[in-house]
Amino acid sequence: MKIVISEFMDDAAVDHLRVAFGAENVRYDAKLVDQPAALAQAVADCDAFIVRNRTQVRGDLLAACAKARVIGRLGVGLDNIDVPACEARGMKVIPATGANALAVAEYVVGTAMMLRRASYQSTSDVASGKWPRNALSNGRETMGAMLGLIGFGSIGQLTAKLARAVGMSVIAYDPALPADHPAWSELAVARVSIDDLITLSDVVSLHVPLVDSTKNMFDAGRISKMKAGAILINTARGGIVDDAAAAAALRSGALGGAAIDVFTNEPLPASTVFDGCPNLVLTPHIAGVTAEANVRVSSMIAAAVIAELKG
Ligand code: NAD
Repeated sequence: MKIVISEFMDDAAVDHLRVAFGAENVRYDAKLVDQPAALAQAVADCDAFIVRNRTQVRGDLLAACAKARVIGRLGVGLDNIDVPACEARGMKVIPATGANALAVAEYVVGTAMMLRRASYQSTSDVASGKWPRNALSNGRETMGAMLGLIGFGSIGQLTAKLARAVGMSVIAYDPALPADHPAWSELAVARVSIDDLITLSDVVSLHVPLVDSTKNMFDAGRISKMKAGAILINTARGGIVDDAAAAAALRSGALGGAAIDVFTNEPLPASTVFDGCPNLVLTPHIAGVTAEANVRVSSMIAAAVIAELKG
């Protein structure tokens, strides 16, 4: 059995695979993702291929995986994997469902609190002798604010739990989650339409996969219907929010703040789209990536690959 890992994975989990399959049969090279020819060669005789979100498992690379029975995904979104094509070839695609949910949930509640206060980006002004105390004295508290979750699955539900703990009210839009699902009542989250969610929420946070129904979901029209001064947080996927429209709404003051962790093209190419945007946090797709989440995600996928190939 041969295992190929093309992006970073926790060392202990890689060791677990080495013990299970023999060290000589586990090829772990976090830089393989950036070497297409070497990667295609490496996967040619592998039984399991483990990726994060940058390796595009489709087309020629998928065709090169002639023997693979398992694709392990060190994360949750499957938009970098052609799942129907994998399944048609008899491969099982295994995501690390739930293993990085806490990291994303903490990112959302933490940035929501920071952006509502709108005062944590004054370091250079304060250090350089300016004293923007008046300008930064209108921050808003979090307790009692309304959080609207688009998508109420694994991450949405954990985010609701943390948000409730800091006193937020929570509503969510997820038409695929039945109204009698216990999560609604257990977490005291109201099930609403997307239109109601947008007009009622002080903070809107996205937790849906990138699929046809979510592409460009937050376009200029939808953003313009958000509550004045609301905060928009996108940790879901690039392409769900129209970044240029969000940037324009920040510049005009219609939006009170935004945090964007995911982009259509990653790394985000240098551009001027976000120039002059106040109260904006941009992060490089790390909402779900913490030391602890990396351990959980990696050990879950190592165990799943071992179970699949040896079970
Ligand atoms: P999940 O599958 O548990 O939940 C997704 C929910 O979205 C489901 O309940 C589903 O019914 C709902 N949904 C699907 N289409 C919808 C639509 N059109 N409108 C409203 N709801 C819809 O997934 P999850 O673990 O909660 O993760 C959600 C997404 O977060 C992932 O698909 C991934 O893209 C993203 N993510 C990002 C990071 C990061 O580091 N930034 C980390 C983990 C996950």
